[in-house]
Amino acid sequence: MSSSMGLFCEHCGLDKPESQFRIRCKTCGRLLKVRYDLNLMKKALSEKSPWNWSGSILKQWMEILPIDNAGLIDKVSLGEEQTPLVRSSYLGKQMGIEDLRFKLEFTGPTLSLKDRGSSLCALKAIELGYSTLCIASSGNNAASVAAYAAKAGLEAVVFILRVYSPAKVLKIMAYGARMVRINGDISTASKVCDEMAERHKWFPCGGANPYRFTAKRTVAYEIIQQLGGRVPDAVAFPVAGAQGMASAYTGFSEMARMGMIPSLPKMIGVQLEACDPVSQAFEKGSEEIQPVPIKPTISDVLLNNTPPHGLLALKAARETGGLFVSISDEEFIRAVRLLASKEGLFVEPAGAISVAAMGKILEQGRLRNLKTVVCMLTGHGLNAPQAAADPEAIPDAIEPDVSAVEDYLARR
Ligand SMILES: [Zn+2]
Repeated sequence: MSSSMGLFCEHCGLDKPESQFRIRCKTCGRLLKVRYDLNLMKKALSEKSPWNWSGSILKQWMEILPIDNAGLIDKVSLGEEQTPLVRSSYLGKQMGIEDLRFKLEFTGPTLSLKDRGSSLCALKAIELGYSTLCIASSGNNAASVAAYAAKAGLEAVVFILRVYSPAKVLKIMAYGARMVRINGDISTASKVCDEMAERHKWFPCGGANPYRFTAKRTVAYEIIQQLGGRVPDAVAFPVAGAQGMASAYTGFSEMARMGMIPSLPKMIGVQLEACDPVSQAFEKGSEEIQPVPIKPTISDVLLNNTPPHGLLALKAARETGGLFVSISDEEFIRAVRLLASKEGLFVEPAGAISVAAMGKILEQGRLRNLKTVVCMLTGHGLNAPQAAADPEAIPDAIEPDVSAVEDYLARR
């Protein structure tokens, strides 16, 4: 049985849930959230041995998700499972972290962290009677929504941006979504997407969707489960819309309130220097997030000047003794290449910035005595392979002859 009480506005403190699905509060315009009965949730978790893995994210965490019709899980599921939490064999030692872990969120069915939320979005869309999913995204979220729409027998309309990764866009096209490319950034495209959703009764599946947000908090439960009940000293998140960090913070906070963990990990938010409005707000001690001028970058992602969950991510960093840090192009490219060549993990730049951040934070002495640290690796390298290696360095073909090969290798 679900412990969900429905959609509420935390700011207005409504005593009744919203009567119909919406993204924002009618009164104050803030994002709605799924509220839970924590007593019921605690009871449900204690009855099911929560740490015994069931093989599917939606089935594993059914009691802590707003699922009314569990019979729909198989209709929407693409086999999204618990993602591995792998121990570092090289970078941890280099950084002086005893137990550095990588959370491989890129192992979802569409090779990014977005599947954790898209599965529940598709399920809720069917429950609520929608036939079309829509999304504005730089690529990973759009690909994920397109795939889940295909699986669930729903239509998908995706809004991609002026700047994009061809690998992601080709994937979206293969899933059969209707694609619109907006001449603008993520804020502009999200606005158009929301207006179209309202006019055409589509189900918007972006970062502001309360069901996507609530599904993503399962990653916090999973990390504790995989560490055998231990709380890591810190968890580092790439931040654009800030949903990943804010939702994980919500999950850790719930667990602490239910007495499942004694404390919260330090929450570390990582942005690109090219667009770091939340980092700048953190540094200034500001309670507001102001758009910043976007600087030149090779990245086509993480460029969000109006992060829907930015304030909650700020709160997460401040309340847990964590911080925000910004990473340059050079720093994330180096992290991509080190992860691949020294750890065997091929991730896209957006996914590697959490690792670049830990190196920088420790070098600068901003945090100390971190024994167990989790870095979220959020997207597979094949989503943006151009950052990992130089195509010009692909070797010329040589004759299939042993001496020619030995001569060639001697020069390498
Ligand atoms: Zn409100």
